[in-house]
Amino acid sequence: MSDAQPPAADDDAAVLAARLASVRSRVAAACSDAGRPAADVRVLLATKTVDAARIRLALAADAAAVAADPALTPVLVGENRVQELVAKGPDLADLRPTTHLIGPLQSNKVNAALRWVSCVESVTSLDLARRLSDRCADRPVALDVLVQVNVSGEVTKHGVPLTAAADLALAVAALPGVRLAGFMTVGLRSPDVAAVGAGYASLAALRDEVLTSGAPGTQGARELSMGMSGDLEVAVAHGATLVRVGSAVFGDRPAR
Ligand SMILES: *Cc1c(COP(=O)(O)O)cnc(C)c1O
Repeated sequence: MSDAQPPAADDDAAVLAARLASVRSRVAAACSDAGRPAADVRVLLATKTVDAARIRLALAADAAAVAADPALTPVLVGENRVQELVAKGPDLADLRPTTHLIGPLQSNKVNAALRWVSCVESVTSLDLARRLSDRCADRPVALDVLVQVNVSGEVTKHGVPLTAAADLALAVAALPGVRLAGFMTVGLRSPDVAAVGAGYASLAALRDEVLTSGAPGTQGARELSMGMSGDLEVAVAHGATLVRVGSAVFGDRPAR
């Protein structure tokens, strides 16, 4: 696709606004089907490979939508790679998007990442949680973290196995400087809706177990970050509070 002309900014802005509106209405319909208030579910834009100029267009379209309908919560931004997070951060800073890290975090990149994010959704080990805790111990407000769980058991997926997730969550919850805000998963990639839903149901059950444990630091662990462009309805049906949407807004990504 290297010979394709990039769209003119006006056209692209209109396309992004229309796709974002379509995602918003899918979320609203899914909430309605599930008997949940639409305000229960926030939308995070998964912006990997998308340049800052296009992210700005999407955020501007979202700001206009929110201005027209104050019941909407502004979209969040999620980056997978610290390199992209750091590169685009300055170009988005004036818009002050709520930004989450949704990809793996190496220990030597913790400081760089923490400049730009208010939540790390991809905590997969106590070692990483302890590093975040150490770096955030002096903060007035704790860093939100989600424990990323591999609900499908696929070997290619990041995340702590479901069987170890509750223990990790309780250990993370007890650390200073970080606040366990809930759980994240990348669902099974399959046309089998029942199988995808079973994975999301298991994350919801884990969240409920941890939330009702009464263990120190668990009382805020409400978030379920699950569901993407192809399956956000399934995730909302199972309790998602945050859906992470990339291609449904920005179009197909270049093949890696
Ligand atoms: C890319 C990505 C998404 C969004 O995927 P789409 O299918 O493009 O919506 C969500 N979550 C994570 C962790 C991702 O890497």
